Amino acid sequence: MHDPLSIISLQHSLKVWAERSPTHPLLGNAQHIVALAASSAPRHRQAALEEAKFLLQVFPQHETDALHLDLAVIHHVVTLLTGQSTPDRIIIPVYDVGPERAWGHHERQLPFEGVVCPVHLVFIDRGQEPDLRTYVWLVHELVHVVLARHLHLFTEGGRMAAQRVQQWILAGLASDDPVGEQLAVDFQRYWSPHRYQEDWPHEIAVDTICMQLLGPAYAEALHRHYGEGTANISAYLIEPSHIPLELRTQAMIRMGEHLGWGDIMQPLRELQSAWEHQWPEAARASQYRALRDDGLIGEAQRTALSFCEAIGLQPLTPRLLATITEKSGDVKGLAGLELIIAAWWVGRQVPEDEYWAWGERAVRSYADDA
Ligand SMILES: [Zn+2]
Repeated sequence: MHDPLSIISLQHSLKVWAERSPTHPLLGNAQHIVALAASSAPRHRQAALEEAKFLLQVFPQHETDALHLDLAVIHHVVTLLTGQSTPDRIIIPVYDVGPERAWGHHERQLPFEGVVCPVHLVFIDRGQEPDLRTYVWLVHELVHVVLARHLHLFTEGGRMAAQRVQQWILAGLASDDPVGEQLAVDFQRYWSPHRYQEDWPHEIAVDTICMQLLGPAYAEALHRHYGEGTANISAYLIEPSHIPLELRTQAMIRMGEHLGWGDIMQPLRELQSAWEHQWPEAARASQYRALRDDGLIGEAQRTALSFCEAIGLQPLTPRLLATITEKSGDVKGLAGLELIIAAWWVGRQVPEDEYWAWGERAVRSYADDA
């Protein structure tokens, strides 16, 4: 048996950390977490302290220029999407999670007086040198972080999904057909909006918001990611943890056209027709075609667009893109989101070594500002 975890031992860890790295930008958050845990009601305290101990272990230990850059991007995107001048939740960037490293998001709960304080872990897939072209995925994860408190936005989508479930249950009963029964289960599983966002409406909504924020930079990243992703895995594969790539692509093409980026969607369209040739049977399978429900895709996108409108989000337009690309040479003049868009642009204009030199300047400029 372990001894119960004491507040003193956590405070000691904090002290060691503060002595080693007194200007660490996340020290304040770590202190806040320990203070929250320490002040939780007696019946939650042990669980809260255990959680705080776990969180202290995942905090990035070293203060680097790249960490400052990541935190600046996180701050910029989250304040933009919440309309608040400081992020209203604790977000911890997590690195080095072994060979399985990938971009991701995970919400933890810190028990506190019966109420819970959400803490968001954002998994960052980068080595020592950040490649800002890949940071479109950081934006994706941060949109998940922001949507964590907006399940109510998906009410209409949930109602529509429940309707589909009913239809397929009835169809299954009427014809004694196991396919209908299975579709009812699948609609429930994939299309019902869930608190932890492991569902298709959230994925489509997050992509939609990212398209608004990043336009062609996002479309191109999807294209690269899907091209690589479907070398071995079918674009039509339905599995619990992932939305089928073909469905996601279909949704993105539609959104790109809606936002005025129709031309830029061409490579995604080509990828889509290549998949049709690669897996003709999967593309025609009636189960897949039933699940690829246009009404539900459209509803998830409408949800995302009305969220953007409600917070007064300025979508990336060709005109705005032109102003960003014009100043892309001078990294000092670029804020978080602009920096990611500029990285995409610079990466297409100059040879790889010049791109990396630009990226290095960007990292350093953030360190100077910090
Ligand atoms: Zn996602």
